[in-house]
Amino acid sequence: MKKIDLRSDTVTHPSPAMKKAMMNAELGDDVFQDDPTVNNLEKTAAALFGKESALLVPSGTMANLVSVLAHCERGEEVILGNKCHTFIYEAGGIAAFGGVHPHTLINQPDGTIDLDDIRHAIRPDDVHFPHTKLIALENTHNKCNGTPVSVEYIKLVSDIAQENDLKLHIDGARIFNASVALGKSVQQLNKYADSVSFCMSKGLSAPVGSVIIGDSMFIQKARRIRKALGGGMRQAGVLAAAGLVALGEMIPQIKLDHENARILADGISQIDGLDIDPRNVKTNIVYFGLASNKMTTSDLVQKMEDRGIRFLALGPNQFRMVTHYGIERKDISTTLDVMAHLLKN
Ligand SMILES: *Cc1c(COP(=O)(O)O)cnc(C)c1O
Repeated sequence: MKKIDLRSDTVTHPSPAMKKAMMNAELGDDVFQDDPTVNNLEKTAAALFGKESALLVPSGTMANLVSVLAHCERGEEVILGNKCHTFIYEAGGIAAFGGVHPHTLINQPDGTIDLDDIRHAIRPDDVHFPHTKLIALENTHNKCNGTPVSVEYIKLVSDIAQENDLKLHIDGARIFNASVALGKSVQQLNKYADSVSFCMSKGLSAPVGSVIIGDSMFIQKARRIRKALGGGMRQAGVLAAAGLVALGEMIPQIKLDHENARILADGISQIDGLDIDPRNVKTNIVYFGLASNKMTTSDLVQKMEDRGIRFLALGPNQFRMVTHYGIERKDISTTLDVMAHLLKN
């Protein structure tokens, strides 16, 4: 029986075209900036996002770390949401390795931060305070139902940043999901940001890597920081080759992922014992709760896993399922049937 793995879109494997491109990639030493395939990926990504320059890094976590360190010196402050990936899931790297002070503000359910909260968080020039240097947003917002954040909102945050001489970074790990959901190009979505990162290894389904995009000065600084962090890779063209194919072929898949997530959410709303508002599901991430006292969240996860279906329990009453390349419509039906069956008995 096929295993259905809904834990994350990071479990995706490369497509046949990606594997072929990896096999045949023209390679060089990327630390010497000699790898033609990496150079091509960086040029392609910069053009796609409408910015000057780009940099391949090993992971989304390093993309955010490098970006924050390129924008902020030690003791300076970044304003970011309390549910964002950088604050929760990146092992405190910005503080540990950059000495950057995280100033967290409440993330609204749609992944935004209240504009007045941002205005009030910016520090006046006073010896007591750290210098505020950066605002970081996340799009789509993973922990806030995978919600896409609008161009209009990003513009308003950028206005505040500019008025206060701050930079704006966007963690766009799933920016292509936001682009598909909002019908906006990634260029439109990142026009007002100073830097943006995206993951090749999530919905885009390439095996490894993230890309940072920004102006040439920023990327030059980021390249040095990447080296210092041990992220300078040599024949990285094998990874870039898959990324280039992904940028060309995976957007229709992301549309399918969103349809599958919607069908999954609608199905969950029909199952007694589960709790969801399917209107919250706008991209490929589906959060739902347990509304049954017949079992615990970990019981349900375990029983599903015994039947070949994997997903995550995040907290005492929250589950997450993520749709992606390799998950088909019939896998959604199977998942719903098995869950309904388990909750009935
Ligand atoms: C996955 C993710 C990252 C980076 O993750 P890596 O596993 O390090 O590639 C960053 N931000 C968000 C919002 C993510 O979902």
